Amino acid sequence: MSPTSANTSTRSWHTVDKKEYDIIVVGSGPAGLTAAIYARRAGKTVLVLEKEAFGGQITHSPKVENYPGYLEMSGNEFAEVLVNQALAQGAEIDLAEVLDVTDDGSVKHVVTDAGTYTCKAVIIAAGSKHRPLGVDREEELTGNGVSYCAVCDGAFYAGQHVAVIGGGNSALQEAVMLSERCSKVTVVQNLSFLTGEEQLIAKLQKTPNVEFIYDSVVDALEGKDTLTGVVLYNTKTEEYSMLECDGIFVAIGQMPENEPFLHVASLNEYGYVNAGEDCETGTKGVFVAGDCRSKRIRQITTATGDGAVAAVAACRYVDSLS
Ligand SMILES: Cc1cc2nc3c(=O)[nH]c(=O)nc-3n(C[C@H](O)[C@H](O)[C@H](O)COP(=O)(O)OP(=O)(O)OC[C@H]3O[C@@H](n4cnc5c(N)ncnc54)[C@H](O)[C@@H]3O)c2cc1C
Repeated sequence: MSPTSANTSTRSWHTVDKKEYDIIVVGSGPAGLTAAIYARRAGKTVLVLEKEAFGGQITHSPKVENYPGYLEMSGNEFAEVLVNQALAQGAEIDLAEVLDVTDDGSVKHVVTDAGTYTCKAVIIAAGSKHRPLGVDREEELTGNGVSYCAVCDGAFYAGQHVAVIGGGNSALQEAVMLSERCSKVTVVQNLSFLTGEEQLIAKLQKTPNVEFIYDSVVDALEGKDTLTGVVLYNTKTEEYSMLECDGIFVAIGQMPENEPFLHVASLNEYGYVNAGEDCETGTKGVFVAGDCRSKRIRQITTATGDGAVAAVAACRYVDSLS
């Protein structure tokens, strides 16, 4: 099966025949692909399983400026290089959603929507996905005024007024990008201050077509078939107001999707896999890397660091079996 994301056009990949692998990595984001590179360089057979976009959530980022060694690049460029690097090292990458992982001692079963694979060690690198607003009709209006990705959908709103919901780094990056093509961008933040990097905040505050609304949350979505605005609730004044706009971009954080790993890993109260810097899950032969584990900073640098740590630990575990 072939990779399908937009960033995969020049890529080749290895055919998967459901043989047994030393290591199966769940997720092809920076954590998973780094783990694959390290495990391949240690001579292990490696399969990376990905359910959506090869390269992970960074493919949604218009610009990355904080990854050491690169002055500036798009998330897609970064993902492309990383995928090609893993392939060049001999990792196999396939499109499949992992539904369950079970532990049978020295053999792990990885159940996917494309069949069940077996391996000696598993690295969970499933990252996280956008957090929904949780208001009525959100799903119905997604794609019709409600979006979670400026890189993907920003072009549809050229010359129009959009709102970015959120005030962290991802929201501010989306606002910067949208301000370059939309007539107006309103940033709606639930706190009385923005929580993103100072540089981004300063840049947006100097951008003439960007406005900010603080202490406010989206209470309702307006519009019949297409969004025409949002009802905002001010948590300080307890007043409701209408913000008319052509689209909203929701960037209120991420949430993990770790349910498939409940048989082999424990989750914390927020759904992240419990693990420390050693990337150990507590189940022998099952490791975790990147945004899906409990940690304070979720960035490419920390994800790739985890990928290396988890891979070395997984390789040691595989060696210990022989
Ligand atoms: C808009 C945006 C901008 C960002 N900008 C920056 C930035 O400038 N600098 C920076 O350092 N970081 C940035 N980040 C954060 C960065 O993208 C993440 O920290 C990083 O991608 C985490 O890597 P990961 O490999 O842990 O997880 P992810 O990148 O989330 O990859 C996990 C992969 O696992 C797959 N997956 C999940 N569950 C399954 C399953 N059951 N079966 C198969 N596959 C599965 C997912 O589809 C995904 O592709 C940004 C994020 C966003 C959304």
